[in-house]
Amino acid sequence: MSEPWMIEVQDLTKRYGSRVAIHGVSFQVARGEIVGLLGPNGAGKSTTMRILAGFLPATFGTARVAGYDVALDSLEVRRRIGYMPENNPLYPEMRVQEYLRFRARLKGLSRRRARERVEVVLEQCGLTEVRRRLIGQLSKGYRQRVGLADALVHEPDLIVLDEPTIGLDPHQIRSVRRLIKGLAGRHTVLLSTHILPEAEMTCHRMLILLEGRVLASGTPAELERRLSGSRQVLAEIAAPEEGLRSFWNACPEVAAWEMAPADDGFHRCLLMPRGDQDLRPQVYAWVREQGWTLRELSCRRYSLEDIYVRLTGQEGGGASDEDEED
Ligand code: ATP
Repeated sequence: MSEPWMIEVQDLTKRYGSRVAIHGVSFQVARGEIVGLLGPNGAGKSTTMRILAGFLPATFGTARVAGYDVALDSLEVRRRIGYMPENNPLYPEMRVQEYLRFRARLKGLSRRRARERVEVVLEQCGLTEVRRRLIGQLSKGYRQRVGLADALVHEPDLIVLDEPTIGLDPHQIRSVRRLIKGLAGRHTVLLSTHILPEAEMTCHRMLILLEGRVLASGTPAELERRLSGSRQVLAEIAAPEEGLRSFWNACPEVAAWEMAPADDGFHRCLLMPRGDQDLRPQVYAWVREQGWTLRELSCRRYSLEDIYVRLTGQEGGGASDEDEED
């Protein structure tokens, strides 16, 4: 089959009793894309993923994976999806290789194919040297890799990873991210995170979920452009206060302004442009024309991080995990 979308979610809604976990969520993911579901705790990321993976029925709406309806064709969907839930239930008393073979067989691979594939994913996920260790004795980072290897073992078209780097140290985070990036093209990946830099570093595109709704979607650059608003200019100008006020009021390029007195007869002027233009060259020219004196001229654009924090009330939870990324 060659459907245009690997994931197609339309108007998806999930209610738990009276609580609405997701509300009319719609989005598409193309083959080979890495897409991040970004949002604070409780935004509805896990709910969306569990519905896609066929672990939870939706209340309304439809979700399709590779053209198959997750509710009506759940067997076809499961064959094509590798899902790593947030708290991946591994068997602590099993050895890594034994567990992966067991999972591969459960997913319908022949004994021979299971052996072959387990070799591939052990290598791919950096598990070769711990293949005979008990899962219960592995570090969290290695257990996470076992979860990834499990999600990959049947060569699914789509890999769905719920918070794949949560609780890992910076080195482990790097290696898991590298692994995920390496899957692009051959596989489609949908991952969830509550950390913006995680989505920016790993994903081609992200969907920001908030209180069960899609707030915005796009590449990091598109979101930055769309959400970060206008570029404010800060200028410190020595001029008569009234003269400055009437000048800014008469300026069609300036949508709004604020002014405060500074020292030595200067005024700090904060100028919001109409549209997205950079006002600095204009301000420089105006100051010269008027014979005023300029001592500072700078431009400030809110970063996507500022906007995300403002929208979600998240003060970068887990940001320390991000320090070492290259
Ligand atoms: P987190 O990052 O904390 O996992 P999330 O974005 O994955 O958050 P969900 O776990 O999908 O969010 O939860 C969305 C909403 O649904 C939350 O308000 C949550 O309390 C609620 N919820 C999730 N599972 C259940 C459940 N089994 N019963 C009742 N409410 C639930």
